[in-house]
Amino acid sequence: MLVEDDRPLASGLKKALMSQGFTVNHVETGKAALHVLATDPPDLVVLDIGLPDLSGLDVLKTLRRQGLMVPVILLSARDSVDDKVVGLDMGADDYLAKPFDMTELVARLRVIERRLNKLQSNRITIGAISLDTAEQRLWVNNEEVELPRREYMLLKNLMENAGRVQTRGVLESRLYSWGEEVASNALEVHVHHLRKKLGTDFIRTIRGVGYKVAAQ
Ligand code: CA
Repeated sequence: MLVEDDRPLASGLKKALMSQGFTVNHVETGKAALHVLATDPPDLVVLDIGLPDLSGLDVLKTLRRQGLMVPVILLSARDSVDDKVVGLDMGADDYLAKPFDMTELVARLRVIERRLNKLQSNRITIGAISLDTAEQRLWVNNEEVELPRREYMLLKNLMENAGRVQTRGVLESRLYSWGEEVASNALEVHVHHLRKKLGTDFIRTIRGVGYKVAAQ
């Protein structure tokens, strides 16, 4: 979830993050952010401090008080040491002062993502399949294979959670941002295409539930 009231900045961030394989849901106010956190909790929050209603710091304080441990990266217009210290003390996982480089935000998101998935590096290898989540590249038997964005996102989610079944609902929410059209058979189609590239056994169908990739 991206919480940012500056629309041009938000739309630039959204575009850049989506091109890096993230699904981005955007809200513009602190209250909207708290509502989403309570009803449809995201995996990660990029939270601007200067919002029109509540401050991002208030949002952070509230969500931590509610016991929500979702990782938060704060964005601040000022490079204020105070904001940084207060934010980190309140339980922010990281802090970026505007203006920042997109590549830096993405790198920091990946650090948090690796920690969430208990991974040591950006390279996940399971059997003959190897995925680099920083470069968004895939190798099958040491040969590079091109993947369209959604197939990459689906495979990444399954490999990051190898050994655990991923439900259809969870996978859809990780592949599609709010407002994006999702055909009812979209997941099946992506899985079908992936199986042609990876072999039929790599992604297992768990009937009536979802999909899974076996752990190493
Ligand atoms: Ca702002």
